[in-house]
Amino acid sequence: MSLPSPTLPSPLSRVADERLADAGVELWLKRDDLIHATVPGNKWRKLIPNLDAARAAGHTRVLTLGGAYSNHVRALAAAAAGRGLESVGIIRGDELADAPRNWSLARAEAAGMRLAFVDRAGYRRLRASLHEPATRRELTDRFGPCAVLPEGGSNAPAAHGAAAVAAELATQLPDLGHRDLVCCAVGTGGTLAGIAAGLPPGARALGVAALRGAAGYLEREIAGLHAVGWGRAFDNWSVDHTAHGGGYGRVPPELASFAADFTERHGIRPELRYVAKALRHLYAAAAAGELPRGSRVTLVVTGPPDPEPAPAAAVDGS
Ligand SMILES: *Cc1c(COP(=O)(O)O)cnc(C)c1O
Repeated sequence: MSLPSPTLPSPLSRVADERLADAGVELWLKRDDLIHATVPGNKWRKLIPNLDAARAAGHTRVLTLGGAYSNHVRALAAAAAGRGLESVGIIRGDELADAPRNWSLARAEAAGMRLAFVDRAGYRRLRASLHEPATRRELTDRFGPCAVLPEGGSNAPAAHGAAAVAAELATQLPDLGHRDLVCCAVGTGGTLAGIAAGLPPGARALGVAALRGAAGYLEREIAGLHAVGWGRAFDNWSVDHTAHGGGYGRVPPELASFAADFTERHGIRPELRYVAKALRHLYAAAAAGELPRGSRVTLVVTGPPDPEPAPAAAVDGS
């Protein structure tokens, strides 16, 4: 099974909205959600370079970890199958092992992924020790030789893959520069790191954290990706920590109604766990006068909405 080819460069479209026009702000959407049906959004940008590197290094199998509704895990299953690689997903929550599969895990399994479940303490240990030789030996003993991708897939190749978003944007908006702000939702930070590194001088990147309590931690992760991937620091980016809506996977009613209103006005249904948080933050910042008049803001739509009817993912959805 090989992957259907991606839609690249991803389309760029303008959102005409009088609420933003009143604030002197232009909004554009970089539609990475349309890149691919089963490996969409930033997952295409981040995973394909990793899988190509794994194959080039002679691997036949990739392994990663994530929550029960992880977009990363689901996309990796599809991408690995498309690249002729076996895949293993270690999933947080040992109670899930014998439960009926949710829609996301069912898709990962249908794509051929082998799922293994660990309890929450074991998951934390694994995540923290992922790069240690003893952990690698345990994983190899249990699952066979494999390339290991961290939670969310954010490593240097992934960030370089995400930098292509900025490079594409510079061809679509040839004067990309001082009046531009490029915004994306942040989970583990690889996407924001790449976008910031790829922007031309003057343009800035803004990440909107989708998780609570990550101030400091995410900034260190992103700076670390810059150090490993580019050998330098960048000072053109920041992360907002106020628009997470209560935490990872939480979708408070105001956020859901903001997204429904946006769909009604513009015919685009924003993904709720990440994209809608960033979008709503931009509207709030424009209304509060926090974006200079004349700003051109591009929201990178990092993924498509979950299938409807909304799966019961919204409460603990990572
Ligand atoms: C995975 C994901 C993110 C988070 O990306 P990071 O690179 O981990 O910050 C953002 N938006 C969507 C839709 C995602 O699926």
